[in-house]
Amino acid sequence: MKCLARWATITAVAYLTVLREIFGYESFRGPQQSIIAHVGAGGDALVLMPTGGGKSLCYQIPAIVRQQAGHGITIVVSPLIALMHDQVGALHEAGVSAAFLNSTLNAEEAQDVEQRLRRGDITLLYAAPERLTTPRFLAQLDSLHERGMLSLFAIDEAHCVSQWGHDFRPEYRALTVLHERYAGVPRMALTATADALTRADIVERLHLEDAQQFVSSFDRPNIRYTIVEKKDASTQLMRFIEREHEGDAGVVYCQSRRRVEEVAEMLLESGIDALPYHAGLDAKLRQKHQDRFLRDEGVVMVATIAFGMGIDKPDVRFVAHLDMPKNIEGYYQETGRAGRDGLAADAWMAYGLQDVVNQRRMIDESPAAEEFKQVMRGKLDALLALAEATDCRRARLLGYFDEAYAGPQDTSKGVYMPFCGNCDNCLHPPEVWDGTDAARKILSTVYRTQQHNGHHFGAGHTMDIVRGKKTGKVTQRGHTSLSTFGVGTDYSEQQLRGVMRQLIAIGALHVHSEDGFSTLHLTAGSRAVLKGEVAIQLRESTSQKADKRSKSRTTPGPAAASLGQDALVRFINLKAWRAEVAKEHNLPAYVIFHDATLAAIAERAPQALSELHGISGLGVKKLEAYGEQVLRVCQSFAPH
Ligand code: ADP
Ligand code: ZN
Repeated sequence: MKCLARWATITAVAYLTVLREIFGYESFRGPQQSIIAHVGAGGDALVLMPTGGGKSLCYQIPAIVRQQAGHGITIVVSPLIALMHDQVGALHEAGVSAAFLNSTLNAEEAQDVEQRLRRGDITLLYAAPERLTTPRFLAQLDSLHERGMLSLFAIDEAHCVSQWGHDFRPEYRALTVLHERYAGVPRMALTATADALTRADIVERLHLEDAQQFVSSFDRPNIRYTIVEKKDASTQLMRFIEREHEGDAGVVYCQSRRRVEEVAEMLLESGIDALPYHAGLDAKLRQKHQDRFLRDEGVVMVATIAFGMGIDKPDVRFVAHLDMPKNIEGYYQETGRAGRDGLAADAWMAYGLQDVVNQRRMIDESPAAEEFKQVMRGKLDALLALAEATDCRRARLLGYFDEAYAGPQDTSKGVYMPFCGNCDNCLHPPEVWDGTDAARKILSTVYRTQQHNGHHFGAGHTMDIVRGKKTGKVTQRGHTSLSTFGVGTDYSEQQLRGVMRQLIAIGALHVHSEDGFSTLHLTAGSRAVLKGEVAIQLRESTSQKADKRSKSRTTPGPAAASLGQDALVRFINLKAWRAEVAKEHNLPAYVIFHDATLAAIAERAPQALSELHGISGLGVKKLEAYGEQVLRVCQSFAPH
């Protein structure tokens, strides 16, 4: 027992030493330490951690320590061929022996990697699942296994194995071979997709029944969630970027390819460095745009959801949704790409009645089975409820993933309410108005038009009747004679739209789509609203108040926000130097140093190498490779 405890202490020290010396970080984050200890000792694991939580270290550190202890090579399964180069590059920069095998290598390069593999001269090998399960590769693994040189399998983006996850990849199914063929070699699966269905599916598909599960909090405290009512989405987006994110890197998600093109062009015309990305673009061009986004600073990627998985650029300062996604899982995954570096970032979405109608239509008109559609509708409703919420968005998001928000509470109203202080509703509690009367007027109109004509009408027409507008259609259909014609002249169109969205969100009104037309239908839930049994509370649709923090958040980014004048000069020059190094190494700038590391160096104004010790993100290898240059850059711009 004593001996075991001693061993555990020794390895715990070894893990911490690797964290500090190789990666240059001071301490472990969240559950990293226990995961690393468990896997390092040869245990299987399922790791659920939000994007930016620090999953990579959870397999990289065990890989390094196990290699040192003579266990051999760690194989990392990753679906993202396009990103393996940068991941391996980052490990090289830190002085770790790593390689990848995928279709981008030519025969000679692949052979070279295979030779190193045979010699056991690699710590981490990245491979795509389709590569891994080829007979040729399996034969190589067999040989390593026979010699006891197969240390660990790390299966990244493990939700790809599940049909319930949103990135199902059939190739992942073949990974069962690992457990059958290499029994006894520890396996860990990692994902940022949390929902219970997907989790159970991963366990079953990858045979991880005996694996220990590590579930982290999914909170991303540095991300500020804001959902605004859509008016003129493009202009709203422009203002948001100009006011809060000038010069920042960001991602703008749109529903369709056409919209992606339009928005990218509009941003470009206003002087924002924007690029389009969608599946309709030529693969080469897509890759080129992705590379620019990763390598250059301050690029805004306008994209469909085809973009983003595995993008580990740490300094994405905002993720904007111009159209509403399909469900909260998608929304959370996409917004999670902001602020991986832990610095302030924004998740901003504009949404409106049309989004609700469109999403419903897509579900209704899809060829899927009714049962599946029902699940999709439920998920859409949950997202609608989030968008319409007047209380803390963070608490709602976490609640969706079955996590109770454990942060501060607001007791000012005598009740305990979650209060994160970093979402729009917490920062500017919305004015609430009672929309019950308006809701009843809308529902009665839906009822009466149906009675009158024997069929159903859409949202726009219904609103025209309530507001007493004598449009051609209203007159032609005889709707001026309805008792509800003009009963809602007191309400603005925007208010009525809000009421309609809310009615749809709570299921008191149903949008039905057929042949490209959407019509409104009463539901079982309409009655209670009509009878006044359910109160409809709505956010006041005032124009969004300008956010006070605005200018302090513009270039050169939050990392430098607290720097004084001289330090800022050093920081800017360090960034210029970093850009050159990155170009030379054909790697993104953040792989060389994060902004936060450069800011810490600039702040310290080092005069000697020894003064660079202990700066976060500056490991032994980087100190050795870049220390002198960093000093020179700092000193050459020293103020006189
Ligand atoms: P994930 O894969 O979970 O999205 P990453 O592994 O890319 O997250 O880590 C996110 C960021 O956090 C990276 O920039 C990484 O270097 C940094 N990071 C991870 N662990 C630590 C730590 N213990 N201390 C400081 N930074 C860390
Ligand atoms: Zn909040």
